[in-house]
Amino acid sequence: MKQLAPEPPAIVRNDSITIQNLFKQYVMPTYGRFDLALARGEGSYVYDVAGRRYLDLGGGIAVCALGHANPEITEALVQQSRTLVHVSNLYYHEPQGRLAQELVKRIGPGKVFFSNSGAEANEGLFKLARKFGHHEGRFEVITAVNSFHGRTLAGIAATGQEKVKKGFEPAVPGFRHVPYNDLHAMRDAVSPATAAILIEGIQGEGGVSPATPEYLLGLRELCNEKKLLLMMDEVQCGHFRSGRLHSYHRILEGANKFLPDAVSMAKSLGGGFPIGAFWVREPYAELLGPGTHASTFGGTPLGCAVALKVLEVIGRDDLAANVRELGDHMKNRLVSLAQKYPATIKNARGLGFMLGLELVEKIPTLNNNDKPASIQFTNRLHEAGVLAIPAGTNVIRLLPPLNLRPTEADEGLDVIESVVKRLV
Ligand code: PLP
Repeated sequence: MKQLAPEPPAIVRNDSITIQNLFKQYVMPTYGRFDLALARGEGSYVYDVAGRRYLDLGGGIAVCALGHANPEITEALVQQSRTLVHVSNLYYHEPQGRLAQELVKRIGPGKVFFSNSGAEANEGLFKLARKFGHHEGRFEVITAVNSFHGRTLAGIAATGQEKVKKGFEPAVPGFRHVPYNDLHAMRDAVSPATAAILIEGIQGEGGVSPATPEYLLGLRELCNEKKLLLMMDEVQCGHFRSGRLHSYHRILEGANKFLPDAVSMAKSLGGGFPIGAFWVREPYAELLGPGTHASTFGGTPLGCAVALKVLEVIGRDDLAANVRELGDHMKNRLVSLAQKYPATIKNARGLGFMLGLELVEKIPTLNNNDKPASIQFTNRLHEAGVLAIPAGTNVIRLLPPLNLRPTEADEGLDVIESVVKRLV
């Protein structure tokens, strides 16, 4: 019989050096990668090519909502790929319509556009803001210092961090940044050219900083008063990561009158399948009309079927409650750790499964190395069998799957404590 699956080449035999050499030779060196080659995953764990197991508390940077190799996601992928993988957005299909309906049901009256990534979802928001202000000559979007909104040209212009802009000047015009959680600064920054404000409910790349309830409510008021769009970037902090659908739902628990004008999403939305989206509320939901925006791969039947399954499982298993309860437990343990080791840990913060551990500025044990403390600490976690995500030079982020188990959470926290202990 003809061999359908030929002998796997060396790469599939999972030799770490071979894989790293392939990257060195053929992959653009845009990422600082850790010295880890991963081969497979199962639930909250991933395995490197040598078969060593790691508890994945990074979740692919807030992507793997249901963990790795989730059988229900696999089943949805297989079933949908047997039916219809892709059709052009020139046609209708059920999965995209259903997913939009589910999102609107949960967010508020409005409409959804589907993209492939977070940056692309934010691009949609920037275009929405321009369209919104166009007839009055308004085009400017104000964002926060330390924000992160993606790596496209407009994304880096919107991002409030100099390091992502360097070397790519001139910047796309129309973006300014003001200190986060500072309502006065925002009010002072609004100019006759301002069309919108874009804010993360919890800054992720900037180091896990939640917005205060007063800030969000104040922004809503300011936007109403000045006729600006209030746009939330929920790419990292959204989709139940905070323990509610979007971070503003958790931050403003009980205050159900708050509704932004637009929300961008990606990451956990597809549980690992690349899909992004932005929602726009009525009466702005049709500002982007026929011919004004498009994406070949936006909202494919395959991507939408998977995202629908992710939503279904999160709801069925009440994973939002798991995130709130276990997230509180994890945060309490991290806060205790900070109190116990003040010479190493400056503080612990975050909401739900978006937690940050801030290291003190100068930890003597980490001083003889030119790598930032966050990278060195993460390397030590890897050696001890846990994956986590650095943010900036001093923060370690935990962004585990929403179905993380209590025993796994404690296992990870024990490992984190053991690493902290060895730094003292
Ligand atoms: N917005 C936020 C808040 C993010 O954290 C990210 C990615 O980390 C993005 C946008 C960009 O998303 P993507 O990498 O999918 O383009």
